[in-house]
Amino acid sequence: NTQIIFSKVPTGYPVIGQDITVKKSEFDLDAPLKDGEFIVKNLVLSVDPYMRGKMRDASIPSYTPAYELNEPITGDTMRLVIKSKSSLYPEQSYVYSIGSFEEYTKLNEQEAKANGVVVRNDPKTTGIPISNYVGVLGMPGLTAYVGLYKIGEIKRGETIYISAAAGAVGQVAGQIAKAQGLRVVGSAGSDEKVAYLKEIGFDGAFNYKTQDIHDQLTELCPKGIDVYFENVGGKMLEIVLNHLNTFGRIIACGMVSQYNLTKPEKVGNLLNIVSKRIKFQGFIVYDYADLEPQFLADVTQMILDKKIKYRETHAEGIEKTPEALLDVLHGRNFGKQVVDVASV
Ligand code: NDP
Repeated sequence: NTQIIFSKVPTGYPVIGQDITVKKSEFDLDAPLKDGEFIVKNLVLSVDPYMRGKMRDASIPSYTPAYELNEPITGDTMRLVIKSKSSLYPEQSYVYSIGSFEEYTKLNEQEAKANGVVVRNDPKTTGIPISNYVGVLGMPGLTAYVGLYKIGEIKRGETIYISAAAGAVGQVAGQIAKAQGLRVVGSAGSDEKVAYLKEIGFDGAFNYKTQDIHDQLTELCPKGIDVYFENVGGKMLEIVLNHLNTFGRIIACGMVSQYNLTKPEKVGNLLNIVSKRIKFQGFIVYDYADLEPQFLADVTQMILDKKIKYRETHAEGIEKTPEALLDVLHGRNFGKQVVDVASV
């Protein structure tokens, strides 16, 4: 049973083989199950920027607990129930939840319910790839949905600017905003990603690494920015503050440019928040679980109607998980980064 272990608190970017390691352990697939118990086989894992925040000393408080040292890290998974003595989670059901990053896990009904393990439609009947259930139809998709509808107060005709726009959250946010009649502008860290953004309907897109951010925002957002979907923080935020309109909103979703710094960057131009009466609100997706049924219904329909496209990068094999996480933290992923662990 290959597991991905949190071995040491990193300084800066995590080091593979030191801070995050791959371990093999025993797992008896033939051991008898008690009533209510079941075994899941991991099919696909999601690696996400927030995981870096969980690789910290447990004494540092945060909205999410630190990973336990020498234990498997956790994250979003789609798993198949392969053996079961549970009527809630019968054999051959596909379950979505946060789970341990290991090939096989034994669960019981009580802990599964408490940990939000939910049965999803059999991907074979919908034609939707399994990996979509941890991306566009999983936590990142819900994050985009919550950000736009609960925080951003988006309105038809407005201009929204999205950073890290070609990523797991950004591409969903952009396409939903476009469908709601906004002018959508995004930035990303390569020309290939920028071309993709234009292909999926962004009105404007630029490469923030090679192009001047201020000049690009001036050109692509001629009426200013009404809503900023903030994914990166730092200098980007500082520049965007000068382009926001009066009564603009900042959807403070994440600040990935800061996660591996030992000292956070200072951000200027904050007086804009007062003078332009900007609403700058953070949020954590887990506070909006009540929105999930509506989100799933809306976005599943958009996928089936081909109104939303979703790019993913697949790493093959659970042992590739540490590299996949580092890829996300360095921006080497293109679209949602997932790890294919096993086929059905
Ligand atoms: P992505 O798929 O967008 O991957 C991260 C991307 O961030 C990289 O591909 C890279 O894209 C960009 N990036 C990495 N390092 C930097 C850097 N130093 N400066 C600027 N950009 C960088 O990740 P997600 O879509 O999963 O997450 C996007 C944001 O949303 C993150 O900040 C994340 O923490 C946040 N989030 C927040 C949630 C919440 O509940 N509030 C829930 C889920 C995500 P590029 O090539 O464009 O640089």
